[in-house]
Amino acid sequence: MYTEQIKDLERISKAAGKSPDFVQGGGGNTSVKLDDELMAVKASGYMLKDISPTDGYVVVNYKKIKEYHESVDFSKDIDYEKESGEFVRKNIVPMEGLKQLRPSVEAGFHSALLKHVIHTHPVYSNIICCSENGFELSQEIFKDEGYGFIWIPYINPGFMLTIAIIKEVSKYISDNGKFPQVILMENHGLVVTANTATECIKLHEEVLMKIRDYFNISNPYPEVSIEELENGDFISNTQYLTDYFKGKDLQASFFDDTVLYPDQMVYLGGNISVNGSDNKMNINTKTGEIIYKTNEKEALTMEETLLGFIYVVENIERNNLKIKTMSSNETDFIKNWESEKYRKSLLK
Ligand SMILES: [Zn+2]
Repeated sequence: MYTEQIKDLERISKAAGKSPDFVQGGGGNTSVKLDDELMAVKASGYMLKDISPTDGYVVVNYKKIKEYHESVDFSKDIDYEKESGEFVRKNIVPMEGLKQLRPSVEAGFHSALLKHVIHTHPVYSNIICCSENGFELSQEIFKDEGYGFIWIPYINPGFMLTIAIIKEVSKYISDNGKFPQVILMENHGLVVTANTATECIKLHEEVLMKIRDYFNISNPYPEVSIEELENGDFISNTQYLTDYFKGKDLQASFFDDTVLYPDQMVYLGGNISVNGSDNKMNINTKTGEIIYKTNEKEALTMEETLLGFIYVVENIERNNLKIKTMSSNETDFIKNWESEKYRKSLLK
């Protein structure tokens, strides 16, 4: 059953997860609608590139999830975040041969989009999404494109983000008579959606290429590499990062004061020492060396996340733009969010 659709899910997931400039660690998610009711969506905490026909995704009744979010009664005094999460989990449809996993916390907005959805955290679109005038920039870059696009100002992920996307999509359709296929989310990332897998992959690449062209980015993205040391620690071999940190006047507070997006907190928050040696990530600003005291999976996720973050910061500065960080209310929400604690725990 649904063999072709599941193959499509694997294909779009591999395309979206193939490179750390598109997603870092277990970030990003994909989905394919299997029929008029069912949707296969990435499982929380999985890496996109690890999705296969037999693993890494969950089937849910997206029709019910969509209806739920479209008809929320906001007059009730309840925890909507919690209720909607429970509703999504209640609408998991067990499939023979599939592990019981948790659907991505972003399953809500996937349910409201076209048949195929790719959501990533690309460094290129995050130059725009983490700049003060990201909205104006995105208008300038995409105004002449045939595909409709919308901008979503930062809002807490999960329930509130789903509600905001549903609202903006329906507004765009009534104003323009077509579905917006590209969504830029401030301090977060990119969503593209299409009715075929091929179109979805192509659109994802086109959008990012267009942004690279706009910012005159012609160099390939730095290669990410870590190496195990004799004592079991890992060391960064990513030249770009070593060059960046060597001789830099930097305090650990820089990372806490400059939060660009939720995944930066999930994967790096509280885990960085500058010129110390006992944290998960230890940056030496004399030598530029980065030492990881954790397992290889977490070290690589942290390395990818750090590179993405520094790359976005550098490109924002290089283009004389101003960084737009998350506010303390916004970072507090992420710190206390059960869904993110779950995702983080999967790195162990
Ligand atoms: Zn995301």
